[in-house]
Amino acid sequence: MPISANDTKRKSWVEVPENSDFPIQNIPFGVFLTKEYVVTVGTRIGDSAIDLGALQQLNYFEGIELTDDMFMQDTLNDFISDGKKTWRLVRNRIAEIFDKNNPKLRDNAKHRDIVIFKMDEVEMQLPVLIGDYTDFYSSKEHATNVGKMFRDPENALLPNWLHIPVGYHGRSSTIIPSGIPVHRPIGQTLPAGENTPVFGPSRLIDFELETAFITTDANVMGEMIPINEAEDYIFGMVLLNDWSARDIQKWEYVPLGPFLAKSFASSISPWIVTMDALEPFRVASPKQDPSPLPYLQQKGKHSFDIHLEVAIQPENEKPTVIGNSNFKYMYWTMSQQLTHHTSNGCRVNSGDMMGSGTISGPTPNSYGSMLELTWGGKNPIKLNDGTERKFINDNDTVIMKGFCQNGQVRLGFGEVSSKLLPPFVRK
Ligand code: CA
Repeated sequence: MPISANDTKRKSWVEVPENSDFPIQNIPFGVFLTKEYVVTVGTRIGDSAIDLGALQQLNYFEGIELTDDMFMQDTLNDFISDGKKTWRLVRNRIAEIFDKNNPKLRDNAKHRDIVIFKMDEVEMQLPVLIGDYTDFYSSKEHATNVGKMFRDPENALLPNWLHIPVGYHGRSSTIIPSGIPVHRPIGQTLPAGENTPVFGPSRLIDFELETAFITTDANVMGEMIPINEAEDYIFGMVLLNDWSARDIQKWEYVPLGPFLAKSFASSISPWIVTMDALEPFRVASPKQDPSPLPYLQQKGKHSFDIHLEVAIQPENEKPTVIGNSNFKYMYWTMSQQLTHHTSNGCRVNSGDMMGSGTISGPTPNSYGSMLELTWGGKNPIKLNDGTERKFINDNDTVIMKGFCQNGQVRLGFGEVSSKLLPPFVRK
């Protein structure tokens, strides 16, 4: 089935500001709360939020097999469970409804009032009920940089790294949408030069510039998803700030890996950009040497050209962009990650979220964490307001953006923006 929603010539009758991440070629999916306190599944064109539940009730999805309340829900899980064919039919239909040459909704003021909201009138929610969250560690540059700082500069990359898309199981209970502030966590750390740990607020709060993909129901327990089918089980992507407490991490992570240094908060952008929308931006991933084992081998292009940027905004100041990276630098592809994840028979469900791991590029300004950008705090970054940062200060807001652009279209993820608050105080 063709992805007619990707027609680059199509224009919408809904206004789209220049350089918007949300032209009619995007059509992402999300969940929002309206000012009437109704929660609904929706999409976005320009700065307009579109209520898909209302569109369905008004019969605009006629001819597409959908359960009656498919979009009148507070998560996308059921829609995602319906699979790729349904995602594509719905996205194609939305493109038709909002095509500037289609008068059906365009010229029906009553329907438009019910269906369309201004973005600043709605409150974005988590788009899916995330049952499980897995975080990979798939940027070679990031793994090398962290290995140099935390372990041994001579053997920065551990021997398994080039053979396995390394990952760990994270916590889904503290995944939050953009806009929700995060408290500085308290934890156990070992001060430099000491033998006894202390317990108190983390002093080294960091972001991790990541993307994440959302899966559909992929397998039954015991079943491995073959590498050439893995992409069919990926619904779309979001931006992910995988907040990290470096001092807690350094003390706790041997021998079993990240634990409380990571599970206090993970922030995501609220619109899921579909793999169909990202299709025009498909590019080759870096050459893998040595060649992975046969179950992870794939031909063709399986990465995506997604520009990423991260900025710090001190309170009452303007943001300073401190790093630029790109998803295409990832060594392991999302399909390799998903196939490896299921290779032991581990079940993957609708709404599961898989983080890429920090996306660092080859140059120092393309690193995806403060740990790397300041090299462990040795080289502080100067912000536009004249202040310096080694890590993130209380009341700083970290803003991540991501977009794709070619000669014909630009589309993106919007942003994930979250403020770091002082430690939580129990009342
Ligand atoms: Ca991470």
